[in-house]
Amino acid sequence: MTRSTAARATTTHALAAAARHLGGADRLVRSSTLLLNASYEVLCFVETPRALTLLVNEQVDVVQAAPDRFVHSRHLTLPWPTIVALRHYVLVPYDVQATTETASRSQVLARDKHTCAYCGGRGTTIDHVVPQSRGGLNTWTNLVACCAPCNNRKADRTPEEAGMRLLFEPHPPRDASALQRMVWDLIGQG
Ligand SMILES: [Zn+2]
Repeated sequence: MTRSTAARATTTHALAAAARHLGGADRLVRSSTLLLNASYEVLCFVETPRALTLLVNEQVDVVQAAPDRFVHSRHLTLPWPTIVALRHYVLVPYDVQATTETASRSQVLARDKHTCAYCGGRGTTIDHVVPQSRGGLNTWTNLVACCAPCNNRKADRTPEEAGMRLLFEPHPPRDASALQRMVWDLIGQG
């Protein structure tokens, strides 16, 4: 497999994953352009006119364009980009940002699909992994869905102290709009 074939395969894979994540994939993909980092990691969907601006400013290269669809101006004809990649890698400190971002009870329950992080049963409450009394915050990485019995058993202790194990690592959600804002800030497009 050549390098570009490998990159293309990775991109197709990433596009499918991103589309699944964002939901309503077809609608989004039709009206938007997928922006990749210079490393071909998926960053976010952007409005196609914005992608065209980046293209004209030579900040991105077209990875994939719609067949038979072009954008005409007086002086040039551009492909209709469905996937573009930044020419220069931007470091997205996503996890750093997200770990300090607060989350609400309903957001955490939705993320964990109402599954108790300790027993896998139905989680209807939320638990602070590091208790609030120990300085644990209302952040995505410190909150998990929890059933009432596990919550009572754990009480005001860490999982280690309570002899309980997390079935999954609490993670920040992949919020496309927040990520998109951050990417635009990083590449200086407002
Ligand atoms: Zn439980």
